[in-house]
Amino acid sequence: EARQIPQRLLFYKPYMSKGIADRILLEQDLHKALENHEFHLVYQPQVNLKTGSIESVEALVRWHHPMRGFVSPELFIPIAEESGLIIPLGEWILETACKQAKIWEQEGLPPFKVAVNLSLGQLFQQDLVEMVEAILVRTKLQPEFLQLEITESMTMNIDQMTQLLHELKALGIQIAVDDFGTGYSSLSYLKDFPIDCLKIDRTFVRNVPLNPNDEALVSMIISMAKHLRLKVVAEGIEEVEQLAFLSDGGCDYIQGYLFSKPISPKEISETFSDLHD
Ligand code: C2E
Ligand code: CA
Ligand code: CA
Ligand code: CA
Repeated sequence: EARQIPQRLLFYKPYMSKGIADRILLEQDLHKALENHEFHLVYQPQVNLKTGSIESVEALVRWHHPMRGFVSPELFIPIAEESGLIIPLGEWILETACKQAKIWEQEGLPPFKVAVNLSLGQLFQQDLVEMVEAILVRTKLQPEFLQLEITESMTMNIDQMTQLLHELKALGIQIAVDDFGTGYSSLSYLKDFPIDCLKIDRTFVRNVPLNPNDEALVSMIISMAKHLRLKVVAEGIEEVEQLAFLSDGGCDYIQGYLFSKPISPKEISETFSDLHD
């Protein structure tokens, strides 16, 4: 007599269950990771194309899991968002980056900005502005040396967003729009938002100068930014040909493996002393 197979098992797909179980485990580990000091930040230089000098570095979080080793932020940031953990994690990231910027200053490095990513969950955080202000006070970092990177998103209404950005700007910090071109409302808000900088997403830069469509798009973003008096950063520059195209096009800053991968605070210090030797 054949055994009855429970109905729900017929829908069982090994990859599904593994994916979900894995995600739950990862979320549990994520909750312990902060108090277990498993996070650290690395910093990627943004280089002025005209002068060749580093004018800012972007802070990027790294999670070293005790069993799994390196876990990509592309994987754990969304989980941190959904679980609410992004609030304490985001605060830790901001404070750590500002503290580090102050340490570089005290080491006598020439002044440069530190750029910190804000995730969507943080934009909805009630006390975001107070938190940023408190961290600036605690770390004694001058606000003009902090840049916050935000991504365009449909989920917040334009008036709310404009209001929030004005409050942040009032602290004296800089604001950049990250992954520009990949979101939805790209153009309409640009004139209302008090922003300083656009970061052209890596996916557009990847195929220049080979793909004429991407080339046209990148050129258009740069010229639009100029008209709006915004600075432009191109991310993900890996090839000399990309650099040449962006430089000819009048892009202000580049960030990418061609110049430097994200590196440790110590390596940032060393990069500066090497440049001055
Ligand atoms: P993002 O903010 O767009 O960061 C740029 C990503 O591009 C980084 O990946 C960086 O390492 C990578 N990258 C830079 N230059 C090159 C290049 O030349 N070629 C290639 N292939 N990649 C390049 P990472 O560090 O893995 O971060 C991925 C994403 O995770 C970030 O994208 C950001 O959305 C999120 N993320 C990372 N760190 C943080 C953080 O501290 N806070 C928040 N909220 N999100 C973060
Ligand atoms: Ca970013
Ligand atoms: Ca980006
Ligand atoms: Ca991104």
